[in-house]
Amino acid sequence: MTDRTNEYEAIIGLETHIQLNTVTKVFCTCKADSWNEPPNINICPVCSGLPGVLPVLNQAVVEKAVLLAAAMHAEIQPVSYFDRKNYFYPDLPKGYQISQYDMPLATGGYLDLPMPEGYQRHVRIAKLHIEEDAGKTKNENGRRLIDFNRCGVPLVEMVTEPDLRSADEAAQYLIRLRQLLRWLDVSDADMEKAHLRCDANVSIRLKGTNVLNPKTEIKNVNSIVAVREAIQTEIERQIREVTSGREIQAWTLEWDEDQGVLRKMRSKETEADYRYFHEPDLLPLRIEPDWMQSILASLPELPLERRGRFVEQYEIPEYDADILTNERSLSDYFEAAVQAYASDPKRVSNWLMNDVLRMINERGLTAGKMQLKAQYLAEIIKMVDAGSINISTGKSLLEKVEDSGRPPANIVQEQGLARVSDEEAIRKVSEEVLAENPEQVAAYQGGKTTLIGWFVGQVMKKSRGKADPQLARTLLEKLLDNQ
Ligand SMILES: [Zn+2]
Repeated sequence: MTDRTNEYEAIIGLETHIQLNTVTKVFCTCKADSWNEPPNINICPVCSGLPGVLPVLNQAVVEKAVLLAAAMHAEIQPVSYFDRKNYFYPDLPKGYQISQYDMPLATGGYLDLPMPEGYQRHVRIAKLHIEEDAGKTKNENGRRLIDFNRCGVPLVEMVTEPDLRSADEAAQYLIRLRQLLRWLDVSDADMEKAHLRCDANVSIRLKGTNVLNPKTEIKNVNSIVAVREAIQTEIERQIREVTSGREIQAWTLEWDEDQGVLRKMRSKETEADYRYFHEPDLLPLRIEPDWMQSILASLPELPLERRGRFVEQYEIPEYDADILTNERSLSDYFEAAVQAYASDPKRVSNWLMNDVLRMINERGLTAGKMQLKAQYLAEIIKMVDAGSINISTGKSLLEKVEDSGRPPANIVQEQGLARVSDEEAIRKVSEEVLAENPEQVAAYQGGKTTLIGWFVGQVMKKSRGKADPQLARTLLEKLLDNQ
């Protein structure tokens, strides 16, 4: 059988649930974040749905959701409604979830994905709304355990149009969305902690056609790597089915990460099953112009815009700009360091991307939390440029400043790290090295001149890295030739 994989393209839409990082839940004052806490302690009559209680909308939830909607270029509605989504499930004590349905907070919008291959994918957003989370069900030793801590935790649900064309694009969407959520500080966006959850709708069609074929929905995938794998697996399965003359059924599938396979869950519920109606206990959500303005005042320059500006303004490669805008405080740090350094931005970028970023990652920090302030980094680079310390001292200073939080110049002075370019001092060390190694001297003078590197190494070692290696080499050659 010939491989017909290339005749098909995938049509993918993603539905994401984003846990907002507010302090309290969406309709009560219970603590929202229960990660690593015992079950059923951050609950109250409101979020556990006791009769007679009334929800009160958390202002911070609306503000974070509006900020996100604006960053997604969505149209924020001046009036939206909360609705009850009715269904019965043990981890939903109220018997309904408060969500938004036909008049959501925002509609439209998009996210542009610059793909590593060089093209850009434009992903439209169909709708964006606020809702509350349900509890968590866990099966353990044949018993079903329910944790209500998560009931009432604020979520934004965001649904894309079916604009993604491959598993890689779907993964890239999540990478860029996660970057944006952290950039805006609206969510911690940690998929492993379910702050960012993703369901994928997948179908295929012959390239060049624009029909929409039956799709399957993949649920419960909890890492970006797994999303990519699950979607790729499903695309391949659908192509196999269709090319063997079978039809695709609208299944809901669950990704089994250990086995790397998709399992069928249940046939899909239709929306009518939820019997939506406006939530009678909450007023319509009105976002007056003044409020809107004050929220949008804190909308920062977005990551992709900043990336573009870095390339233009600092004339650094796109590769650098992409890494430096990966995280907001890193991009702030870069700009502050460039300003303090007041010279070639690419040089700052090199230091940051190589040694500083490695240190940040090793220590599990963010740039904004470092003791090695941007000003200090600039000072270190300047000292290296001026030749007052050598490059390896400069690099070791990064750690020393980070450990102590003290200005690099002070450390250099106290620890005597300034480079020894004093000819007399280096000559003295060189003479010592030669005196201590008569065999190598004899070998060198017998013609094995490649030993010069070894002698330089000994001088560097003896001077604890402070000697100017160029000068040491010249002096050593002179001494050896004259002996
Ligand atoms: Zn509560």
